Amino acid sequence: MASSASSGSGEYDDVDDIASNLSDWVDELGDEQIGFTSLFSDAVCDTLEEAVRVDREQFAFDLVEYIKRLGLSFYDIIQLINYVRSQRAKGEDPRGELNDILVSGKASGSAPWRDEAYLVPVLEGDALLGYDWDELDGDGESGNDEVFAASLREAMDGLDLNDPAVIEVLAASGMNARGAGGVTSAGSGHVENKERACEGPSMADDIDSCYFSSYATFDIHKEMLQDVVRTSAYRNALEKNPSLVKGARVLDVGCGTGVLSMFAARGGAREVIGVDGSPQIAAVAKDLCARNGFSEEQVRIVSSKLEDLSDLGEVDVLVSEWMGYALLFESMLDSVLIARDRFLRKGGAILPDVANLYVGLASAEAEGLGFWDDVYGLDMKAVGGALREQGMRQTIVRVAEPSSLLSDGVMFRSLDLATMTRAEQDFSSELFELVPGDEHRQNDETCSSFVIWFDTEFSSRFCAETPVVLDTSPSSKPTHWAQTVLPLKNHIRLSDCDMIKGRISMSRQESVHRSLDISVEYSCVVRGVEGPLVTQLYSIGVRD
Ligand code: SAH
Repeated sequence: MASSASSGSGEYDDVDDIASNLSDWVDELGDEQIGFTSLFSDAVCDTLEEAVRVDREQFAFDLVEYIKRLGLSFYDIIQLINYVRSQRAKGEDPRGELNDILVSGKASGSAPWRDEAYLVPVLEGDALLGYDWDELDGDGESGNDEVFAASLREAMDGLDLNDPAVIEVLAASGMNARGAGGVTSAGSGHVENKERACEGPSMADDIDSCYFSSYATFDIHKEMLQDVVRTSAYRNALEKNPSLVKGARVLDVGCGTGVLSMFAARGGAREVIGVDGSPQIAAVAKDLCARNGFSEEQVRIVSSKLEDLSDLGEVDVLVSEWMGYALLFESMLDSVLIARDRFLRKGGAILPDVANLYVGLASAEAEGLGFWDDVYGLDMKAVGGALREQGMRQTIVRVAEPSSLLSDGVMFRSLDLATMTRAEQDFSSELFELVPGDEHRQNDETCSSFVIWFDTEFSSRFCAETPVVLDTSPSSKPTHWAQTVLPLKNHIRLSDCDMIKGRISMSRQESVHRSLDISVEYSCVVRGVEGPLVTQLYSIGVRD
């Protein structure tokens, strides 16, 4: 899981200890309570409502609204209160970051207060901690987001996804772009937020139906098929490795148009089973397989979510094109690992079998916002600034020009798909070191973002005759995954910077199915001295 943004481990080692100490403390609170102290001032009030009103009216922070909008748990509330008080004690104002979280609509695992240190009371006899927060239940729930989601769902209900006019509209709005995130084509910019219908903790089924609907249009499949780097990597792996594929029983997880299933059949597979959770595209795949002369014995298309199948029998080869932006956005890898564990024979092959994530330093050029500096002689920098702000929460998916890279890429995570567990999709990387190129240091260039990309290997472990690498790095031919740019709050001047030490964590959001949180922690080593640790959080997904 993502490591916490905050430092300090508190005085307890074990969460259970903390919980029991905390409840003892709350029990003991009793008469010692000194009243309800406002979060942002020293005002002590008789009631919670008064304290909340002081903060709302004088400091524009409404604690009750905050708790309700984010649906915070008891422990979250306690930690939030202690976090705010400890930040204030340090002379810092946490409202900006708290507000960012509110705008994003969710408190991820790496919310700044989620550190056990903040279970320890900062203010002696803090009545806010002793308050029965369960009393807030009832009204509001997730507020406007819910209303918005409901109205959007209603609007989508009537859509005929086969109607060309509808497809065109969806294409224009970015809703049919790859997977749940609604990213338009490579180079288009931010992960968009068109699918707010697909959100909320209890909405996994809705999200799945939105997700599969997004694959029920041809534009997205065309975009993938036109991505020659992607499609020919799979083609070479399946058609140029006869010792693996000839005579094999192959499972294609998420077959889409059936393209990989047909490659496998062309590569000599004895039997191919293509599975897709979008009934529309599964019907198309079935039709296309027949039109291309493959009998149902050779290629069988099954219209189903993979997770709902149990009786496909053992396969020798499992192939899937499951990768999303920043590799892990979409969570389709989970389905592939389920398929591996359920259907792949012992010692069978998984294609691809390795996935690697890389990071590099980049200049402002990578963010692609320079356009706004001078538009027909007009200064539109404000728009670029606003988009950058958004990118600091949401990431920017675009093709980063090779010239924007200020360091070599460093691998920060490698996944062995043949052996990894599902839990390993959430991780904190080892510490990495990014060394700016000499010429960038000499020219005193500025690093303003990190760029993430991945490659996947069809390695010689299974592809003995023709190993293949599908590379999405900025220095390779662009793919529809482009790169994922993470704009930094603090720009880094490179003249004195020896290196940047960092760590990246990725975590699938528990509350928002198919979304991904990314946290970056880094420090700059300037003339041999390591500076303070900086943490920045991003998410890619259905919520911004
Ligand atoms: N294999 C095709 C399509 C890849 S896109 C190609 O290479 O062109 C991913 C496809 O997987 C989509 O069509 C989507 O509907 C399907 N999919 C995603 N998750 C799935 C799951 N859990 N079960 C079945 N199909 C799934």
